[in-house]
Amino acid sequence: MFETLSDRLTSVFSSLRSKGRLSDADIDATCREIRIALLEADVALPVVRDFVSHVRERARGTEVSQALNPAQQVVKIVNDELVTILGGETRRLRFAKNPPTVIMLAGLQGAGKTTLAGKLALWLREQGHAPLLVAADLQRPNAVQQLQVVGERAGVAVHAPEPGNGVGDPVQVARGSVEQARRLQHDIVIIDTAGRLGIDQELMKQAADIRDAVQPDEVLFVVDAMIGQDAVTTAQAFMEGVGFDGVVLTKLDGDARGGAALSVRHITGRPIMFASTGEKLEDFDAFHPDRMASRILD
Ligand code: GDP
Repeated sequence: MFETLSDRLTSVFSSLRSKGRLSDADIDATCREIRIALLEADVALPVVRDFVSHVRERARGTEVSQALNPAQQVVKIVNDELVTILGGETRRLRFAKNPPTVIMLAGLQGAGKTTLAGKLALWLREQGHAPLLVAADLQRPNAVQQLQVVGERAGVAVHAPEPGNGVGDPVQVARGSVEQARRLQHDIVIIDTAGRLGIDQELMKQAADIRDAVQPDEVLFVVDAMIGQDAVTTAQAFMEGVGFDGVVLTKLDGDARGGAALSVRHITGRPIMFASTGEKLEDFDAFHPDRMASRILD
């Protein structure tokens, strides 16, 4: 991920290296190159526009510095802008004052929700929490069983509908899980919801019904970073249909061009909170905008 963008930006910066001072024409030419690099990386157009105009503004306003040459100054400006569009600070999970903290996952089928549920559960367990995983995806064949397998691997309990008891009603399952968590002293509930291959109203309504029933402390929108520009459209649809507090990017280990990662925060106004970087449960961490920016500019 980001290799093409990294290479492109590196060559933009190296062309500035010989310059003693940047003219407005140099800055404009640099901004044009940055624009192309971002568009090629599949970054959404409004994000590209804002990014480039901020870089231009700051580059023009930059004083001649003793410490940094023009190329280094532009690198610093681009780095700062990358950190900004990626969300600035790391946004941590908000825990409920009265446990359990309820976390609901939403997203398209195949986004990596079920895997993510296990990853998040393991991550929280390692920090001393006692999460309960909840199988509220009753749509996809085997989804319940898949979550049970994931729960076992993560060493975390799974609340799933008993056969013949509440099957087909994910709202009931979700509601029941919060009571179960209270009874069994789980301090966190992670609800895996159903996805579809595409956005549809029924899916949105079901997710919204679960949200209304359990009033989650955090709704996390899980999105596959490999789907490029579609990630933005999907995020907008979920924002309207369900609403969410944070984003989880999955499959950041893939060879997509990175546009989803760079666009989703700006487009939805919601922070990227976690990143998933592989199929194993350990391939997961909190999302750090500054580290991601450094990786791009490395
Ligand atoms: P769901 O339909 O949203 O619940 O998606 P799943 O959790 O079943 O994941 C769909 C596929 O993506 C599975 O084959 C996962 O192993 C795979 N997957 C999930 N997260 C990642 C990731 O971060 N990187 C890679 N490479 N694969 C992932």
